[in-house]
Parts: sequence; structure tokens; C-alpha cells
Amino acid sequence: MTYMRSPNSFTGEDMLEISCHGSPVVVRRIIDLVLKEGGQLAGAGEFSLRALSHGKLDLSQAEAIRDLINAQTEAAARQAVRQLNGELSNKLQPLKQILIEVIVRLESAVEFVEDDLPALQSKELAAKLRSLALELDQMAATFDVGHWLRSGAKVTIAGRPNVGKSSLFNSLLRRDRAIVTHFPGTTRDTLSETINIRGIPVSLTDTAGVRKTPDEIETIGIERAQMAIADADLVLFVVDGTSGLTEDDHLIFRKLGASKFLLVVNKLDQPGFASRYPQFEPAKSVSVSALRGDGLEELCEAAIDELGANNFEAGDLLVTDARHYDLLCKSSEQIGEAICLLEREATEELVLVGLNNALTLLGAITGETTSNDILSQIFATFCIGK
Ligand code: GDP
Repeated sequence: MTYMRSPNSFTGEDMLEISCHGSPVVVRRIIDLVLKEGGQLAGAGEFSLRALSHGKLDLSQAEAIRDLINAQTEAAARQAVRQLNGELSNKLQPLKQILIEVIVRLESAVEFVEDDLPALQSKELAAKLRSLALELDQMAATFDVGHWLRSGAKVTIAGRPNVGKSSLFNSLLRRDRAIVTHFPGTTRDTLSETINIRGIPVSLTDTAGVRKTPDEIETIGIERAQMAIADADLVLFVVDGTSGLTEDDHLIFRKLGASKFLLVVNKLDQPGFASRYPQFEPAKSVSVSALRGDGLEELCEAAIDELGANNFEAGDLLVTDARHYDLLCKSSEQIGEAICLLEREATEELVLVGLNNALTLLGAITGETTSNDILSQIFATFCIGK
């Protein structure tokens, strides 16, 4: 047993850690004994919540623990570690400081009513606020890439039977997961696996070939394929470059509707291969041989491009959490409104409303101003005992 005296423990409280052999029986006996003596099982995220309430972590750091546990790629884990080390909070701190300074200047102008804020000063404050809003917008913009890292992207392979969807699925997975035969209609259900494309966890789904068929099982598979297409962030629409287009290819093209898609022209290794299909333009197209693995790098590159997930430098700190993104946008909006009021020479009280809101919103990222309701919602998304 290891005893950690407050405040030198993870939660900041007195803690006793029991190390034991991992057999479920031994663990169960110890837990039962602890419970019998009046102990309680921890709830989801309870340790992190306790660390937060004792000032050991701020909220964005606690959330990073959850993200680190759930990270599916190195790049996602690296971002979570940076947030856990306080980089997001540290980046926000000077911005909050600027906002506080502006608030204090305006508050003191309110106190001394006779001294109206001189025009020059209000111009200077507006300029300060404008560059602050710009920085917040720039941070929020990194969510374009950041959200893929944390939540992953859903990519669906679709096409008529026998164009090589399962072969492509297996090649991208680098193993034989789906059954490949020359009989059309072999894949009757959707199959999903997660792969790592340039650090983005991609949930790749192979679907049943879409065609008109009397087969009942195949029809259910086709319905599932259509759902996977509708649900996808990106569809890889596969056609056979050696056989010419068929009515089924056009049927699938119509079913793609508003979905984002790349045209994947397969069987590049075969004679008579044609790579251009102006009927499906302006979709970007990539020629591949799923069998030999040609063109897969280009395909991955094009997929990441199409998702808009390529424009970040390895050194960038990214906003990966929708909650943080939302708070950054809202706080920048509030500052924008305050700038408008300042420029229209509204009273300081009015300008201050938006600025105080912005400060509260930024504080909610690190947890200073987060309500208990929201805190319990956030910690409910944690694992038990973390
Ligand atoms: P699906 O029905 O669209 O999933 O297609 P499959 O992956 O099952 O492939 C159908 C047939 O096409 C199989 O006989 C594959 O070996 C063949 N095939 C798939 N990709 C290629 C390729 O790039 N080149 C060649 N020559 N044959 C391929």
C-alpha cells in the first residue's frame, strides 16, 4: 500500500493506493473488503473531478486525461498530452489578462462619470479588443483539423459489386479483413475498422455493392450501405476502370446526393484501363490498383485534403474539443459586439456587458466559471475510476 499525504497526491487529498496481483478474484476480494469497511466505488471521472476541485488541475487539463485515454492515434495522444500539460490554459491566460485590463479601464471610467472616455482611448481599446478577437478566432479555426484528431473521420467505400471495394478496404487496412471473390454480391453487410491516416483516426467502412437485386439479404445490405453513405464524412466512390460505366454506377452517383466524395478508379494494373470519367466531375479522382497497392498513398493524401484535415503543422496546438471551440467562438462574438458599441460611442456599461460575458465564456474553458451542472455532464463522459 502506498500512502500519499495531502496535498501531494493526484487529487490533492490523503490517498491510499493498493497494489495487488491482477487476478479478478483477488481484486474483487479487496474491493468487497473495502466496501464492507465503508468505502465507496468511484464514479465516472471522480478522481479528476476531485483533482479539479482541489486546484490540482484545471478543467481543460482534466478533459485532456479523458482524451488521452480515448486517443486512437499518436497525433491525437500528443495533442491531449499538450493540453494536459496546460498549454491551452497557458495560451488563454494572457488573452484573459488583456480582457481584464480593458474591463478595468472601462469600469474605472464608469466610476468617475464626469470623465467620459476620451475618443483616443476608446480607439485604442477597440484596437486591443480587435486583435484579441482575432487571436480567439485563430485558436477556434484550429478546430477544423483538431476535431478530426479527437473524434475521427467516417469514410465509407461505396460502389457497385465487383469494382474492388473489399480489395481496397483490405489494402488500406493492410490485411485481409473482408472476403474478396470474383462473385458479385459477396459483401452483404457493412464492415468497419479504424485506420490511421496522417494521424487522423479514420473509421473505414466497406459496404455491400449497390445494385438492383431480388436477393433479400443483399437488399438489406444495400440499405445499410446507403445509411453508411449518408452518415459518412467522406465517401470513396469506387468504379472499375476497365469495364466502362454501368447503370448501377450512375445509380450510386445519384445516391451520393450532397455527400462529399472522391472518385476512386480501380484496376489500374489491367489493360484497357481508363482513368477519366467526366460524367462524375467536378469530383476529384484518384487511380488505384487495390490489388497491387498502387495509388493508395495518393488516395490517402486526397482523402485528408478533401476532409480539410491537412492544414496543420506538427507544432501547432489544436483545439480538439467542441465545447472549447464553442466557447472560443461565442467569446469572440461577444467581444465583436462590444467593439461595435465602443465605436458607436455607447455607454461604458453597455460595452462592459459583452466583455464580461466574454470573460465568463473563456473562464468556462478552464473551469473557473463552469456551473456544477455542466461539470457533472462533462465528468459523466469519463471512465469510472479516472
Ligand atoms: P467488391 O465486390 O467491390 O468488394 O470487389 P472485390 O474487392 O471483391 O473484387 C472483385 C474482383 O475484382 C476480385 O476478383 C478482385 O480480385 C478483383 N480486383 C479488385 N481490385 C483489383 C485491382 O486493382 N486489379 C485487378 N486486376 N483486379 C482487382
